[in-house]
This record gives sequence, structure tokens and C-alpha cells, in this order.
Amino acid sequence: LFITLEGGDGSGKSTQAALLEKWLTQQGRTVVRTREPGGTDAGVEIREIVLHHRGDISPRAEALLYAADRAHHIETLVRPALARGEVVLQDRYLDSSVAYQGAGRVLDPQQIRDLSLWAAEGLLPDLTILLDLDETTARARLDTSRTRYDRLEAEKADFHARVRAAYLGLAAAEPERFLVVDASRPAEEIAAEIQSELGRRLPA
Ligand code: C5P
Repeated sequence: LFITLEGGDGSGKSTQAALLEKWLTQQGRTVVRTREPGGTDAGVEIREIVLHHRGDISPRAEALLYAADRAHHIETLVRPALARGEVVLQDRYLDSSVAYQGAGRVLDPQQIRDLSLWAAEGLLPDLTILLDLDETTARARLDTSRTRYDRLEAEKADFHARVRAAYLGLAAAEPERFLVVDASRPAEEIAAEIQSELGRRLPA
């Protein structure tokens, strides 16, 4: 079972990943919680380049770095865990690339999707949870964390509006795969909604 969490910065993905991992474990599942970029040793190095390189990285190079991280992560960590029958709970996956590199950086979203699918040899999640949040609320949440706030601040508001719109478009195009939740509510309330939907959608 392959579950991915998506959403903008400050949407609460990490909090929900932790709560969902706990719940799935209580249900008797073996859970591998991971993330992109940076879910493997090589991925940590790629993440360092893509997020902390001092100069600008060209949009296409950025897209390829995310794809490289993804290819290695899926082949060496995710597929083996799925083959063992474990639940993989992953913070960000190909929809992040379509939304950020595709819509955000204005590359062709379809090409970014194709690149991601090539990198991951076609692997799609069974379920993608989209934590949907407006930018003002997201900013307010990130206010307490300087580094993250600075990064968000550096990227223009319209960048985030495009990312959010792209995510919602992806969810509308694949309603079977996506669960869209209103991420402006308290974490426990969001977690309860996710758990009840999972109980309904997923096989025992
Ligand atoms: O979710 P996390 O904090 O790990 O993401 C780090 C940053 O990487 C995010 O702020 C997001 O802007 C960026 N990112 C991206 N394209 C991706 C994945 C992440 O721009 N495909």
C-alpha cells in the first residue's frame, strides 16, 4: 500500500504523516515513513543541492534533480518495502513535481509528470492525501520558523497560488486517487477525517 501526502509549505504534512503512521501501526500495519526529496543517503545530498545551493539552479536542472532523487528513492527504498507488503507513507511525490516544477516554475506539467513516471518506472500511489490550505494561513503558520518563512517569502505569492491551483487540478483529474482535506482545521480533526476515509477506501 503506497500512500503519499501532498500540500504546500505549512500545510501540516509532517504532523499528519506522524499521526497517520501511529494510527496505521496501531492497526497492525508495518509502516515505512519516508519523504522526497531526501529519503535516501544519496537523496539527502541531492536535497542539499536542490534546496540549499547558494546560486540559482535552472528550472530544468531542478526538475532533473528531483527526478534523480525520486528514481533512486523508489527503486532502492519504496519498491522493496511495497514488495515486502509494508505500507509506505511518503511525504511528497510526483504531484509535488507537477505542482512545483510544472506549474510553479512554469515548465510543461505533462512533461514533468512523464519525467517523474519514467524516473519511478510508472509507480503511482494507491492514495494521495492533499492537505489544501490558502497561502495566508500557510504563511502565518510558518512565521514562527525563520528559515522556512524566509524561503516562502523569497518565492512570490503567485508562485504559491499556481502551486495550489495545480494541486487542486490534479486532484480533480484523479478523484479516485486523491483525498482532498481542508488543512485549516485543527490537526486532530484532520487526522480523524483521514483515518475514517482510509478505513472506508482501503482493503483490510
Ligand atoms: O516538504 P519539504 O519541506 O521537504 O519540502 C522542501 C521544499 O522543497 C518545499 O518548500 C518545496 O518548495 C520544495 N519542493 C519543490 N519541488 C518538489 C518537492 C519539494 O520545489 N518536487
